[in-house]
Amino acid sequence: MTAEQILSFCRSSREWAVDCLAEMVRRESPTRDPDAVNRLGEFLTGLFRQQDCLLEAVHPAERGAHLFGWGTGSVSCADRQPVLLLGHMDTVWPVGTLQSMPLRREGDRLYGPGIFDMKAGLLLMLFVARAVRERVFLPRSPWKILIMADEEASAPESRNVIEEQARDCRYVLCLEPPLSGNRAKTARKGSCRFLLEILGRAAHAGVNHADGVSAVEELAHQVLRLQAMTDYARGTTVSVGTVHTRNAANVIPDYAVAEIDVRAASRAEADRVIGQIHALAPVLDGARLKVTDGIRRPPLERTDGVAALYRSAACRARELGFELGEGSSGGSSDGAFTAALGIPTLDGMGVEGDGLHAEHEHVCVSDIAPKAALIMRILQEY
Ligand SMILES: [Zn+2]
Repeated sequence: MTAEQILSFCRSSREWAVDCLAEMVRRESPTRDPDAVNRLGEFLTGLFRQQDCLLEAVHPAERGAHLFGWGTGSVSCADRQPVLLLGHMDTVWPVGTLQSMPLRREGDRLYGPGIFDMKAGLLLMLFVARAVRERVFLPRSPWKILIMADEEASAPESRNVIEEQARDCRYVLCLEPPLSGNRAKTARKGSCRFLLEILGRAAHAGVNHADGVSAVEELAHQVLRLQAMTDYARGTTVSVGTVHTRNAANVIPDYAVAEIDVRAASRAEADRVIGQIHALAPVLDGARLKVTDGIRRPPLERTDGVAALYRSAACRARELGFELGEGSSGGSSDGAFTAALGIPTLDGMGVEGDGLHAEHEHVCVSDIAPKAALIMRILQEY
């Protein structure tokens, strides 16, 4: 079928699509509520089964099970290298949010918790499966579906699951929300978390002030050093997000801890800043520092492979009558893990909308059909 025919199929299925999406949103699925995430997972498994696409639960963990399966029609082209459609079903919104942020349609906008990030992206996967089942188009390569249960707070084991499924793939489409103005994400900053613990020496704040080594005073010095590592021109940010102590006010504090968020546009830059953080030395005599590495997500760099995939997608979009722009994001996603394997990854291929992690979270209903058609055309041609 031609691009036009695919688009008209997508347009004619729009109300089906809106109904499916509404049902997904009604099943609230916060990251840290495995039962809720699994309820959505079972619902999705049923929806995909109707499109001849069998999803299985992988690594059922205390965070809810991820879903994996081969896309409809994959056997017809099994000799080719597969591609991966990647997404997540967890949201940042606790169960009960629907009461204050009800699912509602106002004109072209469909509002609801998690609809933009990224239940609408999951809908696109379902749409592709339906189109293949109804012989609207045939995928050029076998395609895999991977829906993560914990993207918003991803665990190290989840990274392994993503890498395992992505490793043999030719490219990855990550159906996270696009940037404003319908732009795909061809670059993302990497992020790393650190804990900086400071050990001083406790003393009575009135009786033996001079005997103490204040962890808070040392922390103040280190916070200024850390913040000063920010370099906007390079796209590097260092932010001390939280600080804690555990002493009473009449004690020279012997312990303080800070949580640090680092973002960088390239791996080399991230390594440079991480080196600086590990090289921090105490200012006060008798103070000690301890740096612990936390969750780390690599940057998504705009490699030649990413650029080629984007150009092909933008060309397909033009055939369908719209412009697909590109840009970079300061936020991270699971797509960064596949990009770090060297697999061309085009991120932000979800449905247009606004209000990421915010109360006005919504998608534009008019973008569902063109975006679904775009994903189909990419799978048909690239
Ligand atoms: Zn997301």
